[in-house]
Formats: sequence, structure tokens, C-alpha cells
Amino acid sequence: MTVNRCTTHGGICRRIWKEGKCVLHPPDTLPNTAGVSHTLHYGVVHDAARKKIVFIDVKEKKVMSTLDNVDCSKPLWPMFGVYNPEWITVSMRLVVGSDINMTEEKKAMIVKALS
Ligand SMILES: [Zn+2]
Repeated sequence: MTVNRCTTHGGICRRIWKEGKCVLHPPDTLPNTAGVSHTLHYGVVHDAARKKIVFIDVKEKKVMSTLDNVDCSKPLWPMFGVYNPEWITVSMRLVVGSDINMTEEKKAMIVKALS
């Protein structure tokens, strides 16, 4: 998943990629103007048994994309990064573990996405 400037839509776009190919590029951009800030809240679910990775927009409470037939023959390493601090200010917080607020609605969304 990338969040960056998009010349097609003229704003900040969220895109999901699989094996180098863009599989989701919704046209709802974030404004790319000075002083604007935005908070994104996403969940990522990996199910090695079903070979799926699901991206969830937690604020919108909807599944963004489900990647099927994910190659799970080798360990997958979650990687997160932000860059270009000379242009923008980005902060990121990664929440993992058993302390996550998991409502019944979120659980149902995950189960449905993985089925
Ligand atoms: Zn775009």
C-alpha cells in the first residue's frame, strides 16, 4: 500500500499493489495543498492458511482490498516506511498485539473478508 502524490488525480492517492501491479487505485484523493493534514487508519490482516491479505480502512469501516493467492511459501515481512521529510511531515504508529480494540463489527468484517 502506498500513499503518495498522484499525477492522474491531482492529489494524494492511496494505492494497493500486488507483485508490482496496482490492484486498487480509488479516485477519492486527499488534498495536496500546503498546511493540510489527514489521518489514515488502516488494518492489515494476513491469513497464511487461506493465502490472503486484506486491507481495511478502519475509519470508514470497510474492506479496501483483498489479495488472493498470496505466495506464502516464504516468510512475509511486514514493512512500513515514510520518507521525504524535507517536503512533508509524516508520523506513523504501528499497533500490534493483543491489546487492539476489536469490536464485534471489526471481527465480522475480517471474517467476511477472509471467507
Ligand atoms: Zn490517483
